[in-house]
Amino acid sequence: MTDAPSNLFYQSRNPRPFLDRGEGIYLFDQSGKRYIDGSSGAMVSNIGHSNPRVLAAMKAQMDRSTFGYRLHFRTEASEALATKTAQMMPGDLDRVFFVSGGSEAVESAVKLARQYAITQGQQSRWKVISRFPSYHGCTLGALDLTGYDPLARPFDPMMRGMPKIPAPATYLDRDNLTEHDRGLKYAEMLREKILAEGPDTVLAFIMEPVGGASTGALVAPDSYYGRIREICDEFGILLIYDEVMTGAGRTGRFLAAEHWGIVPDIVALSKGFGAGYVPLGATVAPARLVEPILDAGGFLHGFTYAGNPLACSAGLAVLEELETQGLIDNAAAMGEVLIGRLQGLMERYPFIGDVRGKGLLTAFEFVADRDTMEPLPVGLNAHSRLVEIAYEHGLITYSRRTRGGVAGDHFLVAPPLIISEAQIDEIMEILVESLDAFASETGL
Ligand code: PLP
Repeated sequence: MTDAPSNLFYQSRNPRPFLDRGEGIYLFDQSGKRYIDGSSGAMVSNIGHSNPRVLAAMKAQMDRSTFGYRLHFRTEASEALATKTAQMMPGDLDRVFFVSGGSEAVESAVKLARQYAITQGQQSRWKVISRFPSYHGCTLGALDLTGYDPLARPFDPMMRGMPKIPAPATYLDRDNLTEHDRGLKYAEMLREKILAEGPDTVLAFIMEPVGGASTGALVAPDSYYGRIREICDEFGILLIYDEVMTGAGRTGRFLAAEHWGIVPDIVALSKGFGAGYVPLGATVAPARLVEPILDAGGFLHGFTYAGNPLACSAGLAVLEELETQGLIDNAAAMGEVLIGRLQGLMERYPFIGDVRGKGLLTAFEFVADRDTMEPLPVGLNAHSRLVEIAYEHGLITYSRRTRGGVAGDHFLVAPPLIISEAQIDEIMEILVESLDAFASETGL
C-alpha cells in the first residue's frame, strides 16, 4: 500500500511502515525489512507471532461460530477458557468475567468491588486508592485510577480524582534505610492514606505488582507486598492487582503476585492473555465476592463482545501453549539472562542509571547523574529518540517518560516469552549499536 493520507488518527503524524507478517519474535514490513519484536508490541505478544496451534484453534472455532451473545448461549470455548484460567490462577481466584481489553478488565474489577460492597451493606465505600505514577487504562474510570498526568489531566473535571499514594520508586531514595524498611515505608503510605480518607469510604486499592509503562518495570522491595495485603485486610479493603501487563506468564509466574505469595481479591488480565491473537481480557475474583452479587440479581455490567467464542478459543490455545511449551519457566530463565545483559550496559553507558524488572518485563532508566539520579533534560527526548534509532536498526521497543511524566525516561525491553538466549544476544547487538548512535548524536 502507498502512504496516501490515512483515515486513522493515532497520536503520531509520523506514519509507520505497513505491517506484512509476523513469525515468532520477528515482524516484517511490506518492504521485507525484518524487526525483532523486543517489546512484544506493547507487552502483548507473549507466545510470539503466527503460532500455528493458536491459528488452527481459531480456524476450527471460526468454522463453527464466531459469535453467540452471552445472554442467549453458553459456548464451549468460553467455558473451557474460564476453567483453564481458574486452574492457572493462585488461591481461590476461580470466577472469570471476560472482557476485550485491559481498561475493560480494570473497570470491571472496580465495579465488581463496588457491587460486592453494596451486597455487604457498605454503600459508603467507593474510593479506590491507586499509585502515582501508574497506568490502569484510558477509559474514564480506569484513567481516574491512572497516575500519569499527561494522559489524565486534560480530561479533568470529567473524573472524580481518586486518591493516590506514591509508587515505591526506592531506587530514587537517598535515605539510610534498608530496602526492606523502604518497602515497609511505602506500604505505610497506604495505611496513612486510608486513615486520612476515612476507612469506611475506601473500597479498594489497585496496583501493578511490577510497574509497566508508567514506571518502567518498577519492582518494589519484597517487604512491600505482604504489608500491603495486611493493611488491606486490616481495613476490609479489597486488593486489586492490575496484571494486565504482568499476567499470563510475563514475569516468570502466571501472575506476578505469585512471586510474593500474594492472593489478591480481584485480578485484571489482558495483553498476554489474548497474546495479540484477539482482543481479550478477564476480571477474575473468588466465589466469596461473586456469589453475593449473583444472589442479589447479578453483576450490573457487561460488554457485548465479552466471552465471544472466537476470542475464547484463541485464549485457551494461548494458555495451552504457555503450559506445553514451558514458556513461563522460559520467561523466568531468559529474564535472568536479559537483565544480566542490560546491567552489563551500565559499564559502557554512564547515562543508564538503573536497570530493573522481573522475568521478561525489564527496563533501564536514563539519568544525567547516577549519584543524584537527576534525569536527562526533557528536551533531549531521550526515550523516544532511542526507540526511533532502534526501530531504524530493526529492533522494536517501548519507552516512556517516567516519574509521573515530569522528567526522566525509561526504556522497556520485553520480548515474547518464546525467546532464546541467542535471540537475546541479537537484541543486545542492535541495542548496543543503537545506544552508540544515540550517545554520539547527543554527545552523552
Ligand atoms: N493496565 C495496565 C497495567 C496496562 O499496562 C494497560 C495497558 O497498557 C492497561 C491497564 C489498559 O489496557 P488496554 O490498553 O488494553 O485497555
